[in-house]
Amino acid sequence: MRHTQPFPARAAAGQVHLRLLSTTDLHMQVMPHDYYTDRPAPGRGLAALAGLVATLRAETSNTLLFDVGDMLQGNPLGDYVARDAGPCADRTHPMIAAMNALGYDAATLGNHDFNYGLDFLLAACAGASFPVVLANIVLKKGATPLDDTPLLPPYRLLRRRFHDGAGEPADLTIGVFGVAPPQIVEWDGAILEGRVRARDIVETARAWVPEMRRAGADIIVALAHTGIGAARASRGMENAAVPLAAVRGVDAVLAGHSHLVFPGSHHAGMPGVDTLGGTLHGKPAVMGGYGGSHLGVIDLLLDQRRGRWRPVAHLSEARGLPAATASGGPAADPVVRAVARAHAGTLASIRRPVGHTDKPLFSHFAPLGPAPALRLVAEAKLAYLRNLLREAGDTGPPALAAVAPFKAGGLGGPMNYSDIAAGPLALRHLADLYHYPNALRVVSVTGAEIAEWLERAAGLFNRILPGARDQPLIDPDFPSYNFDVLHGLSYVVDVARPSRYDARGRLAHRGARRVRDICHDGRPVDAEDRFLVVTNSYRTGGGGGFPVPFARRIVHAPAILTRDVLTDHVRRRQGVSPEATPVWRLAPCAGATAIFDTGPGARAHLGTPGLPSLQDLGDTAEGFARFRVTL
Ligand code: MN
Ligand code: MG
Repeated sequence: MRHTQPFPARAAAGQVHLRLLSTTDLHMQVMPHDYYTDRPAPGRGLAALAGLVATLRAETSNTLLFDVGDMLQGNPLGDYVARDAGPCADRTHPMIAAMNALGYDAATLGNHDFNYGLDFLLAACAGASFPVVLANIVLKKGATPLDDTPLLPPYRLLRRRFHDGAGEPADLTIGVFGVAPPQIVEWDGAILEGRVRARDIVETARAWVPEMRRAGADIIVALAHTGIGAARASRGMENAAVPLAAVRGVDAVLAGHSHLVFPGSHHAGMPGVDTLGGTLHGKPAVMGGYGGSHLGVIDLLLDQRRGRWRPVAHLSEARGLPAATASGGPAADPVVRAVARAHAGTLASIRRPVGHTDKPLFSHFAPLGPAPALRLVAEAKLAYLRNLLREAGDTGPPALAAVAPFKAGGLGGPMNYSDIAAGPLALRHLADLYHYPNALRVVSVTGAEIAEWLERAAGLFNRILPGARDQPLIDPDFPSYNFDVLHGLSYVVDVARPSRYDARGRLAHRGARRVRDICHDGRPVDAEDRFLVVTNSYRTGGGGGFPVPFARRIVHAPAILTRDVLTDHVRRRQGVSPEATPVWRLAPCAGATAIFDTGPGARAHLGTPGLPSLQDLGDTAEGFARFRVTL
């Protein structure tokens, strides 16, 4: 356990101990409540984290609290505030109100904060009693970043009266600037309608940091909604925290976006990253997980050298919330009070019955084939498209639906799967089945493009050679939400062959193909065949780096969210009965077995038809159920 308060004792006269606290990716998690299962979620939420903030503030007089984005979206509370409760023109957004109550000093935005549109976002920011800064997402680009027309202030100077080691006042100016993934303009292209432009994170920092120094910043802190990735800068990179730290004049980096924890074992062995020292390129850095799971803490010892304040020592830590912190604090707690009305409204909304399902809806086996939870989403999308075509009197090409598993374990842990029993379906179940606020998109693609689409998705699997024993089946670096399954086809995935595309979507093996026997209605799909496919705005915006020019293939872009299509589908039919029968299957691989980890809830569904042969190997240390798959 790292000692966190060495500096109050050590700061001498003329030296200042400054503590930076950072939250990230709160995703509307204020109350420790899981809105999908409608159960308490101990160990997360800003209200629970507030106690830790108070403790850490009490240890030193010089503390600043920051958030680095993705706070306004991510659970049914966020949707409720954005839609059911109406825009927040007349009152402060509950998340912003909670942050006001906790006394944040500044924040930046994340990509998901743009999900509900620019007007909603700016109204929310207007309610903040702290500056919200963002330098690389702008209204209009100029010749250099300094000439851009800003959306929000690119940086702010926080003038604070701190106290030095002898208790004497020390006036310091802390400069904070914000950066977020430039991909925002693609991912939310449909909603932002070309109203914002993005710049490269490192390019932006290189321009603004010297400007902040000129304006009088003693210390410069990067509020960076970006993850810890490659050490070398590449143009437009999404996870730029390491090269950002290397920018001359940046004193500390508060990172986020990837929902990981830093310092921590996740980033071990990466160039420029010191997981023990908690530094990126030698600069102190933190990342506070997800949903208020951790508080990033950087302690800086500041001294004056040649008339300038500099950090002469530092400590970084990601402080976890004790799992026992089950309560969000008393109802009188100002953070709890800020969201109380919206929380109650959300609970009433998610409990509203919509219809019922005859079959259980689960996602535990999606990477093996059978996935009734995804089948229901596909059925809803296909019904919507068929209706659309009927109205247009269009007999057109065959209709397909692309659906990927969103809840598939991973960082979300062994309970992060859809697992809905047969019976009534409430709104919370539908939010669980489709929790991103993606809009529906219909694309017209060829058989050849379908083949590339499926090859890219098949990168989920590690290569398993014939005769190999107990290799892990799934590539942990491949996000499950890029594992698109095309409902309406049938096909076979041969994991004995190398993946044609790497985890980032670049062509890795030109000659390789894993997906074969692609058929529609029992007939092989030809390269020139045409299909209409229902997908989402994330994919058509370029999300996942698929080798299909989706943006140019859009034929319908209805202003409707996929989740609303799903909700309408269930409401209209009242009863749904999605089959588990898989769309695709894994090819046999002589003498090979592979290891497949999934949620322990999978054990209740082992009788599902279409599953390969599975042997239960018990639970992993993290609580995943481990199976041996005979291929
Ligand atoms: Mn996030
Ligand atoms: Mg993000």
